[in-house]
Amino acid sequence: MQDGCGRTADYLRVSLTDRCNLRCVYCMPATGIQTLPHEQILTLEEVTRLARCFALLGVRKIKLTGGEPLVRLGVVRLVRALREISGVEQITLTTNGVLLAQHLDALLEAGLDAVNISLDTLDPARFLRITRFEGLERVLDAVDRAAAAGLPVKINCVPISGLNDEDIVPLAGLARGRVRAVRFIELMPIGCGSAYTAVPFDTLRAELEAAYGALTPYDGVLGNGPARYVSLDGFEGKIGFIRAVTDCFCADCNRVRLSADGDFKPCLYQRAKLNLRDLLRTGADDETICARIREQLRNKPEGHRFGRVQADADTRYMASIGG
Ligand code: SAM
Ligand code: SF4
Repeated sequence: MQDGCGRTADYLRVSLTDRCNLRCVYCMPATGIQTLPHEQILTLEEVTRLARCFALLGVRKIKLTGGEPLVRLGVVRLVRALREISGVEQITLTTNGVLLAQHLDALLEAGLDAVNISLDTLDPARFLRITRFEGLERVLDAVDRAAAAGLPVKINCVPISGLNDEDIVPLAGLARGRVRAVRFIELMPIGCGSAYTAVPFDTLRAELEAAYGALTPYDGVLGNGPARYVSLDGFEGKIGFIRAVTDCFCADCNRVRLSADGDFKPCLYQRAKLNLRDLLRTGADDETICARIREQLRNKPEGHRFGRVQADADTRYMASIGG
């Protein structure tokens, strides 16, 4: 399906829950967020039905996210059901990794194609400070097990001044062999993120270059997203940079989103104008649902407007929107 600017949308990010077992300081307040009542959250059957509609419209890749998708009961069953949808070529998951090891075998068996693991530090004290929980060992164990099982693993890190500057070089080191890519994601001014400052891109590059030598641009395809990759001498995996704010990639945006409560979001930045759960629950057939999705997609904005106050900006937390 195409939006009003001629971009093809073939990649759907589905938030399975707004709940999480961590409280990363740049994502959620210490007390957590006001979570959605259960009845407002899409059932797994509703997610599957909507995914089928999106597949009819041309979606080929689905990413499960949250909140923390692995706290949602039935996630393995959902992966299996999504696998059976005609046209869907790839199902991946973004997780904080804490519960990954215990679900890994079942997820592999269900047909999961790849996993992104969010990890902002390799230091246990900083892990506690950033996520407000213990659990680094479990995440590292999950990284090892997933990679050993042959699942493509990407690590996602959000470098933040005064929080994990010291982790940039050691985290990048994971791409020496263990993982397919380590990606540095620019902090976005969403929710608690507004209170922090991203490590500037030039600083990131300089630190990586000082530690590991020249960063050579890599033009191969590695995933569905907007990351720009570089190679490092002696590294099997790549290093990626995702700069949503300072190097906006909206012109090539191929993604749409479904929030845990059924909001259809053509753009991460913009407040949703269509709730697909309501449409489903009032008995709409697939044809009507597809028509409404198409209609909304036509109005996808040309680009985000982070940093400028806009009436239509989504003011919810990242965990609610589905990061
Ligand atoms: N809980 C899962 C996880 O942490 O991977 C999935 C949801 S989380 C919201 C998805 C990604 O969004 C994580 O990599 C997280 O670091 C990132 N994120 C959260 N808040 C952000 C912000 N303000 N700016 C940029 N990335 C953010
Ligand atoms: Fe939870 Fe992911 Fe947000 Fe951390 S970034 S609080 S793990 S949703």
